[in-house]
Amino acid sequence: YDDRDGKIWMDGKLVEWRDANVHILTHGLHYASSVFEGERCYNGKIFRGHDHSVRLRRSAALLDFEIPFTAEEIDAAKEEMLKANGWRDAYVRCVAWRGTGEDMGVSAKRNPVRLAIAGWEWGNYYGDAKMKGAKLDIAKWKRPSPETIPTSAKAAGLYMICTMSKHAAEAKGYSDALFMDYRGLVAEATGANIFFVKDGEVHTPLPDCFLDGLTRQTVIGMLKDRQIKVHERHIEPAEMEGFQQCWLTGTAAEVTPVGQIGDYNFEVGALTREISEGYEKLVRS
Ligand code: PMP
Repeated sequence: YDDRDGKIWMDGKLVEWRDANVHILTHGLHYASSVFEGERCYNGKIFRGHDHSVRLRRSAALLDFEIPFTAEEIDAAKEEMLKANGWRDAYVRCVAWRGTGEDMGVSAKRNPVRLAIAGWEWGNYYGDAKMKGAKLDIAKWKRPSPETIPTSAKAAGLYMICTMSKHAAEAKGYSDALFMDYRGLVAEATGANIFFVKDGEVHTPLPDCFLDGLTRQTVIGMLKDRQIKVHERHIEPAEMEGFQQCWLTGTAAEVTPVGQIGDYNFEVGALTREISEGYEKLVRS
């Protein structure tokens, strides 16, 4: 995967895909001093691209480092990378990290902060079965408390248990895993937020210990525009028995219907389809 044609933007300029490497003594690799963004470009325009640039800088600040590019410069760099590769529809991945330097211990204040922007063509995150409804396992790990780690940052360190949980779910034939949080409440999937429908109203966990996704915010806006009541609140796992529909939101997942979580089943109902199709229209409009 690393030896191929293409351009990646690194620290201010485009480099060949195969030359976009970092040294083995990169601080971010050893200590997870790394933050990232996942974005999608539709018809030549990144959906909420500037919001992603702002979030990237905010995630870095939460980890106590500053990206040496403004949000506007990051916007321009993303466009430069997409143009150089000739992509109009692509997934965009920005990553910022503490690099190599004199400090290779926990403290790394003198190591330069690096920024890279790559992209690739990516279809449905949950494959061809998207509209049939994804099957989710319940993760063994819990989303941590905001007193444990800066949970509102999109930081690499927060994904260690996501990869482990997704692998465990896939090994059992599921597409993904749903996390409970440190209190035992419903939280999010390994790379997406979750919504439920009950009697025409929508319920979604309060994002007080996980990422308040941009897609989540967009979808809440879409529901409010349609005069549908949205309850952002703490949700107990046993409540899932009474919910009729369920979907996931995320830049990669977009709006993906969920058919099953553990022993609970959901229908891919009219509202789920409307929001999923409405989101597709919105991102391309
Ligand atoms: N939670 C997690 C853990 C994620 O990785 C993502 C994807 N970035 C989301 C939620 C959804 O965020 P967004 O809608 O901003 O992509």
